[in-house]
Amino acid sequence: MKHLRYRVAVTALLYALLITAANIAKSAIQGVIVPPDNGKLRIICFGAHPDDCELQVGGTAALWAAAGHHVLLVSLTNGDIGHWREAGGPLAVRRRNEVRQAHQILGVQGVILDIHDGELLPTVENRREVTRLIREWKADLVLGHRPNDYHPDHRYTGVLVQDAAYMVTVPFFCPDVPFLKKNPVFLYYPDRFQKPNPFAPDVIVSIDSVIDKKLDALGVMESQFYEGGANGSTELVPSDLEKQKQRHQQVRQSFARRNQSLADRFRAKLADWYPAAEADQVKHAEAFEICEYGAQPNKDELKRLFPFFAK
Ligand SMILES: [Zn+2]
Repeated sequence: MKHLRYRVAVTALLYALLITAANIAKSAIQGVIVPPDNGKLRIICFGAHPDDCELQVGGTAALWAAAGHHVLLVSLTNGDIGHWREAGGPLAVRRRNEVRQAHQILGVQGVILDIHDGELLPTVENRREVTRLIREWKADLVLGHRPNDYHPDHRYTGVLVQDAAYMVTVPFFCPDVPFLKKNPVFLYYPDRFQKPNPFAPDVIVSIDSVIDKKLDALGVMESQFYEGGANGSTELVPSDLEKQKQRHQQVRQSFARRNQSLADRFRAKLADWYPAAEADQVKHAEAFEICEYGAQPNKDELKRLFPFFAK
């Protein structure tokens, strides 16, 4: 009898372990520690490729992370055609390792979905995946590309994030993951495309205090920037040590300029968030536009979500 009870207990334990394993396997965010509810902000950023989130929101992500907020950067594709010399599995692994290093520098977590680069589509399956990720992260803020960005993967990332902007609150869509009772705020990254409408920023963040961290993080993604990614060539990769140093410096400066040009382009808007004298001094910025489909924050709510502003 005692023996039978023991066997029942062991069987029950094995079943419990199997069920737990099945649930973990179902989780869209394998390998990520979903943070506890501790009153800190929960931010999830989507990019098409393993470098997009880091480029678009790396500085603000570092600011949030330094203040103890929880940031997850998601790449919807594995980046496996993003190089002029190499492709496939080895490139996907290389990019995963690069972006992991970048996340360590920024102090954030990351996920890369195993979808081929250049082949992302706004399918129902991918809509479920994006919805699950936002729900599992219990996001307050969701960021993504605008759906009129230049690259098809960027556009469809934009569409997928928009498509999730209401569905995350619908109980019987993906009922395997608890729905969100409060719709998050959804935001777009900037781009330069004018049709059908240009990017119009609602929030501008000075990233001067973390610009070196951001440039360091971008610098470790050598396949994409130092070597030039899909449109690079052998000429970008000198064998001479001194020229290699120069090339690294050139990449760093081009990204610094990119964030400087955002600060200059939206300088007038910076004064909405920083005292005038400070706004004039901001050198590097990141900018975001509110998507109409999620929660619509007022200025106080935006200040709560971006707790960096002195004004
Ligand atoms: Zn991209």
